Amino acid sequence: MKKHNFNAGPSILPREVIEKTAQAILDFNGSGLSLMEISHRAKDFQPVVDEAVALFKELLNIPDGYSVLFLGGGASLEFCMVPYNFLEKKAAYLNTGTWAKKAMKEAKAFGEVVEVASSADANYTFIPKGYEVPSDVDYFHITTNNTIYGTELHADPEVNVPLVADMSSDIFSRPVDVSKYICIYGGAQKNLAPAGVTFVIVKNDAVGKVSRHIPTMLDYQTHIEKGSMFNTPPVVPIYAALQTLRWLKAQGGVEEMQRRAKLRSDMLYAEIDRNKLFRGTVTAPEDRSYMNICFVMADEYKELEADFLKFATEKGMVGIKGHRSVGGFRASCYNALPVESVQALIDCMQEFEKMH
Ligand code: PLP
Repeated sequence: MKKHNFNAGPSILPREVIEKTAQAILDFNGSGLSLMEISHRAKDFQPVVDEAVALFKELLNIPDGYSVLFLGGGASLEFCMVPYNFLEKKAAYLNTGTWAKKAMKEAKAFGEVVEVASSADANYTFIPKGYEVPSDVDYFHITTNNTIYGTELHADPEVNVPLVADMSSDIFSRPVDVSKYICIYGGAQKNLAPAGVTFVIVKNDAVGKVSRHIPTMLDYQTHIEKGSMFNTPPVVPIYAALQTLRWLKAQGGVEEMQRRAKLRSDMLYAEIDRNKLFRGTVTAPEDRSYMNICFVMADEYKELEADFLKFATEKGMVGIKGHRSVGGFRASCYNALPVESVQALIDCMQEFEKMH
């Protein structure tokens, strides 16, 4: 039976990315050695990193003066590296969910943290608006897509301070005005690569300004200077990332990804709104995520939750159980998800509705 992969992350990657990476694991560039067996300093590997960086810059239209880094530690380590490198006195954070809260917690160890707004009291069912960002902060941190709660900032905020963003779960799903940011980071395991590599886009002249000592491995300057080769980088995930970046370019880039994301999510939200059995969890329609679509059973049909999960699983849906903080269901619709998978889920919802 065909499987439809709605996993929240690690999640679906284009099939050709997996095949090309598998091929390189068996035989890298006809060398007779596996990608897993070669040095990251081998002359054949440097072009992989160079092309991945170049494609990152091209696809996101990154201006001059920025570096693209491939590091370890996941987005979770960036929660700490960001304030380590940029927080001298005070930083502002928008509290839009679990990951934003974790980022804020780390920053508090380095200076004053202003929570400009929060939707915690409403279980993060919307993204706060109308807040003021103090003009004297070192940066304003946002989480552009809230993977757990299914809310998303669909455009770069208009503020007069440098932005920092966790884009773990919506990178490459829309154009971004990188010039507004001093740092954009994320774990790769949604729209880019298997887990194990973290991407960081950093503005070169924003680093080296804080007065504290930064341990070598946590200093962005180290990795900028060494082109992500200060220590042994995760070569297999970086190789896979390059294959995804090539795929993205061939498909038409981030504008095309945005078009597809909107198409998929419009289809699924329309069915959630139409079907009497279900209800979307995000209360502000403009904040509904294109990437992670969260819904629950309507109140009158609460007792059918386990039945629907079983029904959908038997029809090939994978990973649609909602996160425990929200309950119900979450259909993650990342870049590589074919529209047919969304249609298969909709068919499931309609068939289940007919049975009740
Ligand atoms: N930020 C967001 C928005 C996420 O969705 C996740 C993981 O799902 C993280 C951060 C944590 O990423 P990592 O596991 O790479 O540390």
